[in-house]
Amino acid sequence: MADQPTPMMAQYLEIKAGYPDALLFYRMGDFYELFFDDAGAAAQALDIALTKRGKHLGQDIPMCGVPVHAAEGYLLTLIRKGFRVAVCEQMEDPSEAKKRGSKSVVKRDVVRLVTPGTLTEDSLLNARQHNYLVAWSEVRDEAALAWVDISTGELRTTPCPRVALGRELARLAPREVLVADAMEQELRPVIEEAGAAITALSRGSFDTVNGEKRLCSTWNVGGMEAFGNFTRAEISALAALVDYLDITQKGKIPLLRPPLREDPGALVQIDAATLRNLELTHALSGGRQGSLLWAVDRTVTAAGGRLLERRITAPSRDLGTIQRWQSGVTGFVEAPRFCETVRESLRAVPDMDRALSRLSLERGGPRDLAAIRDGLAQAEALAGVIAEQDGTPETIANLGAALTGHDELANILDSALIADPPALTRDGGFLASGVDEELDEARRLRDEGRSVIAGMQKDYAEDSGVTSLKIKHNNVLGYFIEVTSTHGPKLMAPPLSERFIHRQTTANAIRFTTVDLSDLERRILNAGSRALEIEKRIFGELCRRVLRVASEIGDTARALAELDVASAWAALAQSEDWSRPELDQSQRFLIEGGRHPVVERALRAQGGQPFIANDCDLSEGAGPACWLLTGPNMAGKSTFLRQNALISLLAQAGGYVPAKRAQIGLVSQLFSRVGASDDLARGRSTFMVEMVETAAILNQADKNALVILDEIGRGTATYDGLSIAWATLEHLHDVNRCRALFATHYHEMTRLADRLDGVRTATMVVKEWEGEVIFLHEVRHGNADRSYGVQVARLAGLPDAVIARAKVVLEALEEGERNTRKTTVIDDLPLFSAAPAAAPASSPAPVNSALTDRLSEIHPDELTPREALDLLYELKGLT
Ligand code: ADP
Repeated sequence: MADQPTPMMAQYLEIKAGYPDALLFYRMGDFYELFFDDAGAAAQALDIALTKRGKHLGQDIPMCGVPVHAAEGYLLTLIRKGFRVAVCEQMEDPSEAKKRGSKSVVKRDVVRLVTPGTLTEDSLLNARQHNYLVAWSEVRDEAALAWVDISTGELRTTPCPRVALGRELARLAPREVLVADAMEQELRPVIEEAGAAITALSRGSFDTVNGEKRLCSTWNVGGMEAFGNFTRAEISALAALVDYLDITQKGKIPLLRPPLREDPGALVQIDAATLRNLELTHALSGGRQGSLLWAVDRTVTAAGGRLLERRITAPSRDLGTIQRWQSGVTGFVEAPRFCETVRESLRAVPDMDRALSRLSLERGGPRDLAAIRDGLAQAEALAGVIAEQDGTPETIANLGAALTGHDELANILDSALIADPPALTRDGGFLASGVDEELDEARRLRDEGRSVIAGMQKDYAEDSGVTSLKIKHNNVLGYFIEVTSTHGPKLMAPPLSERFIHRQTTANAIRFTTVDLSDLERRILNAGSRALEIEKRIFGELCRRVLRVASEIGDTARALAELDVASAWAALAQSEDWSRPELDQSQRFLIEGGRHPVVERALRAQGGQPFIANDCDLSEGAGPACWLLTGPNMAGKSTFLRQNALISLLAQAGGYVPAKRAQIGLVSQLFSRVGASDDLARGRSTFMVEMVETAAILNQADKNALVILDEIGRGTATYDGLSIAWATLEHLHDVNRCRALFATHYHEMTRLADRLDGVRTATMVVKEWEGEVIFLHEVRHGNADRSYGVQVARLAGLPDAVIARAKVVLEALEEGERNTRKTTVIDDLPLFSAAPAAAPASSPAPVNSALTDRLSEIHPDELTPREALDLLYELKGLT
């Protein structure tokens, strides 16, 4: 018998068995309790006390608990630490269970499985960032990605072969990725590298036949063709998402917008390394500060912030789309006062998307209704401002038109809710008076009761002569009379004991009740609970009204976000003196007076030197050009390279750019690599990472790509490094034939400019003055005469003796080099003359037949980066 679990424990074990991978938050009154291993894990993760409660199979049961009212904070900590949490609620009032018998347990059930990708609470989310849940699926030889932000209901898909998964995950930065369980092991590294949690689902979740049926019923359509031409893999990934939402939300499907298909060709492709290296959303140091987004984000609403982030991580390649965005920005730039008025109005717009999604999951509160009310009112006002403005471009006028049409709902919400309602329905008090007669009546009764209590307290204090007597309330006793222990005996003795009925004795106080008080309490309670009931009913009605037009409200919210982004770009362009880029389908790249938005902002904050603007022209001559940039360390090479990449990205994200003038042929892919950045965390050697990344560029860059290579080859021995840098530039020029900027400290490479048509040399201007170097940060055509490494070392504070010695060594080395004419040998190395067959050979035919034979056996497209590197070593061995 001792081994028999208690009825409650039996219920716990049964429910827990359904959620072996999650911590079970088991509701008991005002607490969520955790038991057994869950308790141990949670107590440690939350740093809360681990206690015991009863025994199971003769052993103590470990337990810990969190109060319900503070549960959100604890949930956030657990989710951040990688746990999933099943929230199990009491599904009936405990009094119901008692009616069934003394052994009967309150009915409980899991109402929600909380996972990183399925959060909706504002306190658990970053307002300005999307919280994506992603599913990846492969059906025969097609693969696809589907993603949803359940806090906004936005749903998209795109074809995504396995090789592109890392890139897409880097762009979306999801919190959780769903895959079929058979794939889990294989995909774990790429998913974890993207910082997401991996969740394996059974094959059935990805089933396309059942999946399609379920998708159709979600949106109530006959076939998915209604929304676009989805591949089987896309349907499968979408089906997995919807299935998972069903599992985690326990049947309550959140508001989902119909899925949109993203054509990979419509977006600039930016891979994970480039995203990181260009510091688009996060600085290399990890935080948001110092990133491009940080420097350019002037949006004033959370939804605008999220939209801008999406534009920056996935700029468009569609000229029409970008020009439409641009015309909105220009409309605001040309009417600065109008722009300011719109922005002022937008500041008061709440996050309607997230409020809407909480309401749809029955997790919303009065404050969410108020968010919709305020958002719609603000939208209506903005529509008026836009309509009154003369000569607004069509883009803005169209957005203005999408803001109206909600009068009826706005009026209903406006008259129903108080100005500043509470977050929860729990305590009522959010409906205005005059909304419902019965409610007003119940409230009046309840409130009168309260004032009667105050009078009663006064009377009792006088009658008993205990002036400190108080009437208080708690959840266990309800209303009670309390006096300190000293006065207790007086009330417990006749004649007062006839009226005052003893209830409880605590350490410092004694508590009583009276017949009158109990009576009054019942009346107050009845009126109070009646009022609450009515408020909750009306809340439900209001929610349903809102959800009936959810998709129209969503359209308005999107138009507000678009207006926010366009006016934010305009505000930025005005305050920073940016210009509208001219875009077309060519391979042009002409930047006059370009600047780096983040470095410029940092320099300004330091209050020191101004930022020096520089030109860049990669469209000189017949084809696209590669610029080979030399110059000492710290001269500004990396800054120049990155600023040009960022300018092209900002242009295609629809914004203005930090330049006097920019003419850019649409960029299809953006690649940026820096030499020798340590990546020990991923357990690969620095040089290996650099080579893997370089291989990816050489294999993938098409003629509309923009490639930025910074000090490639630095991570290995000098001649190895020079060889690789040299061959890489040749390949870019001859095979990829794309626009490229290449910074190097190998001066020998400048001689490539004589041999290759499209290669131009440029250098950072440096002045030498009394043995010191001064960086002018100016880019000029031509070559650097020397590297000034020793001078830079001196600036860095190396001891004078070391500097003096280094100068002597340098002179000796330079002298030796001149005598042996070693560098000229490089040109003759077969490796460098071996231009690929597809390319117009600009160098003599190779002479080494072993090398030629080996080369002819190679199929570059079939090589992994690792094999390519091994091969490179092998080829070197043949020379
Ligand atoms: P490099 O790549 O040549 O080593 P960086 O691009 O890292 O040099 O630049 C070094 C520093 O020089 C930057 O942190 C910045 O403070 C300053 N700098 C770079 N470019 C400019 C510029 N155009 N105008 C003003 N300061 C600049």
